[in-house]
Amino acid sequence: MENLILDGRKVAQSIKNQLVERVQVLKEKGVTPCLATILVGDDPSSATYVKMKGNECEKIGIKSLRIHLPKETETIELLETIQKLNEDASVHGILLQHPVPSHIDERKAFETISIEKDVDGVTSFGYGQTALGFGKYPSCTPAAIMSILHFYQIPIEGKHAVVIGRSPILGKPVSALLLNENATVTTCHSRTTNLSEVVRLGDIVVAAVGKPKFIQGDWIKQGAVVLDAGYNKGNIGDVDYDACSEKASAITPVPGGVGPVTISMLLKHTVDAAEETISKH
Ligand code: NAP
Repeated sequence: MENLILDGRKVAQSIKNQLVERVQVLKEKGVTPCLATILVGDDPSSATYVKMKGNECEKIGIKSLRIHLPKETETIELLETIQKLNEDASVHGILLQHPVPSHIDERKAFETISIEKDVDGVTSFGYGQTALGFGKYPSCTPAAIMSILHFYQIPIEGKHAVVIGRSPILGKPVSALLLNENATVTTCHSRTTNLSEVVRLGDIVVAAVGKPKFIQGDWIKQGAVVLDAGYNKGNIGDVDYDACSEKASAITPVPGGVGPVTISMLLKHTVDAAEETISKH
């Protein structure tokens, strides 16, 4: 069956094009949007992700303040760094790259980020607001998944969405966002029984498992829309793309699907946060 490839790069480009203009307007008003990224330690993948996010900021005129702390950093020192950024009026968004070294209390660090600057949607306050339907900055990957659905005008209301995964940054918030747009949502996890049968009910299937090619072709209902948030070693998604493509009416590839849109959502939230500071004055 001929299916639609949901092109994340195209969606991301369209979002970034709109942001360029908004950044320009902010600069004319004397405000340069600024995202502070905090990297703790030397994990190569984390370093690459942070660098990529910073570079993407700069490409559209957002200032990237890059803070790199040594791996021996104690929780209290990290909290102090975040607190200083909370108080710095020139910083509009704060991103603490996950994971931090295991001796650090990551949750405490996330919760220290002020809600106005939580552009990555990691605080429990932000998550609560998202779940209740008035969150400003939902986690970026869930926001990206919704953006892709909106961009391609894929109907959500009344559809059965099956999300595989319930992590605080992905499965749970994307389930909430889909529910807020009137999907009937089933959230699956490692204790779900008869997983394949549950997935087969999905008109929209979101894979957020963290296991390469986990979602099989024969789990997919004919004509379903498949969004693969997975990003495993070797650029492999959580969905068996070739097999699932045979059944899906639309599907995101990996790479070039959810990933690029996730970064553009981070940029968008930073610009939103900068605009908020102006509207408050
Ligand atoms: P995570 O925290 O490890 O969560 C994985 C979830 O999958 C958990 O809820 C787990 O269930 C569930 N799960 C594990 N094995 C399962 C099984 N056999 N059957 C059903 N459910 C199962 O991972 P995450 O941070 O949400 O990330 C998920 C994937 O998205 C990863 O590939 C990650 O690299 C990718 N990701 C991509 C982006 C992006 O920008 N594209 C951003 C973030 C993450 P339990 O809760 O029961 O353990």
